[in-house]
Amino acid sequence: MDYSYDAVIIGAGIIGASIAYELAKKGQRTLNLDRLPASGYGSTGASCAIIRTHYSTLDGSALAYESFFTWKDWPGYIGVRDERGLAKYFNTGVVVIKTELNKHLEPICAIMDELGIPYEHWDNKLLSNKLPIYDLRKFSPVRRPGDPGFGEPTGGVVDGAVFFPNGGYVSDPQLATHNIQVAAEARGAKFRFNTEVVEIRQEDGRTAGVVLKGGEAIDAPVVVNVAGPHSYIINRMAGVEAGMNIKTRALRQEVAHVPSPEGFNFEEDGYVISDSDIGCYSRPEIGNHILVGSEDPACDEREWVDPDDYNREFSEQWTAQVHRTAQRIPTLGIPGQAKGVVDLYDVTDDWIPIYDKSDLPGFYMAVGTSGNQFKNAPVAGAMMAALIEACEGGRDHDADPVHFELPNIARSLDLGFFSRRRKINTDSSFTVLG
Ligand SMILES: Cc1cc2nc3c(=O)[nH]c(=O)nc-3n(C[C@H](O)[C@H](O)[C@H](O)COP(=O)(O)OP(=O)(O)OC[C@H]3O[C@@H](n4cnc5c(N)ncnc54)[C@H](O)[C@@H]3O)c2cc1C
Repeated sequence: MDYSYDAVIIGAGIIGASIAYELAKKGQRTLNLDRLPASGYGSTGASCAIIRTHYSTLDGSALAYESFFTWKDWPGYIGVRDERGLAKYFNTGVVVIKTELNKHLEPICAIMDELGIPYEHWDNKLLSNKLPIYDLRKFSPVRRPGDPGFGEPTGGVVDGAVFFPNGGYVSDPQLATHNIQVAAEARGAKFRFNTEVVEIRQEDGRTAGVVLKGGEAIDAPVVVNVAGPHSYIINRMAGVEAGMNIKTRALRQEVAHVPSPEGFNFEEDGYVISDSDIGCYSRPEIGNHILVGSEDPACDEREWVDPDDYNREFSEQWTAQVHRTAQRIPTLGIPGQAKGVVDLYDVTDDWIPIYDKSDLPGFYMAVGTSGNQFKNAPVAGAMMAALIEACEGGRDHDADPVHFELPNIARSLDLGFFSRRRKINTDSSFTVLG
């Protein structure tokens, strides 16, 4: 059959756009389809877009460290002009408070040593110098605001922190996605918006294309599911879920935006901070604000939802995150009006993504990004392009996993790590931290 496209990519978030860019670099004719009006309007647009180099697993950290180099040279990666300008990466560094929950970062520092990822130990004196607004008393275990003892210190002080100098955040995740779209289009990639896929077509036991809402059929020998929190719906359309040991579902999340406390400029002097003693992560935000996300502490019930029907208003979860942060920053002003975002993570059973083929020849997936893969999108795109090329060339990736070279850190990544058929990875934090 004479196809107009070599691959149809369902979704134009940061990962869908990156796959298009990397396939286009290989000379493939790609078409991204997205039901929303522009690229990066799905969960990517709600992302805190934090860039960090540490994960709970060696392979996760290797992927993150390699990806860091792309953000450091974003203009070089994009390589073309976007009339909207380029997204900016702010390298603030990342502070992780040492707690019993993260085993004082000892397992992570061992991974950093193995990969040569820089880090420093900060004692409480240095931590107080860098963050004079911080109250270093312990508050764990994390509680709900209504629980007895909420806001009361629980004895002693935290045990310092580990500082990772390579890390920060991207100012505008949607613009970053648009940048990749423009770069992909410059290589011939096509994007269609306000276009919903409702069926995966199959012929002779393999993928044959998609059907759109309204009935239009598009032929393609390869279809890639990059539908974010809708990923499980697309996998069910393709009938591939039964062949997956690891599955995906949509988890509701709230991120609070609060003003920096009086007398401290968090935008200029703050860091990306991970603090499992209070169950929150935070980062500076434009306008001298602080973004506060949840580290999914055990006391918070997880809200698994239908991605087309969930509560988009702030709830008491917003209040919980802000009040938990106010334990650490007693001078934090708590706004009367809740601001921030309510959106969804696409979560796997072990909070590690699936970058893989499926049991249906020609159908691939980059899904289950579990609230932590924005940073990895450029390299994930390149890994998926390599995997698709190898599998379409006849390789049985399930039996003989593709290896992907990470040029900046001179390592090879076994892509079997991200397999849909893997056993649950017990090294994972089973949270957004990956
Ligand atoms: C609140 C929040 C905070 C986060 N913070 C961070 C962070 O600090 N650092 C980090 O690294 N990661 C973070 N993440 C995770 C990161 O944003 C995601 O991993 C990443 O954006 C996923 O990109 P994607 O392209 O896979 O998905 P998405 O951006 O969700 O894109 C999927 C697209 O598929 C489209 N789609 C779905 N179904 C269909 C259909 N049937 N037909 C056509 N189109 C369809 C959707 O419209 C959507 O645009 C965060 C996520 C959230 C929600």
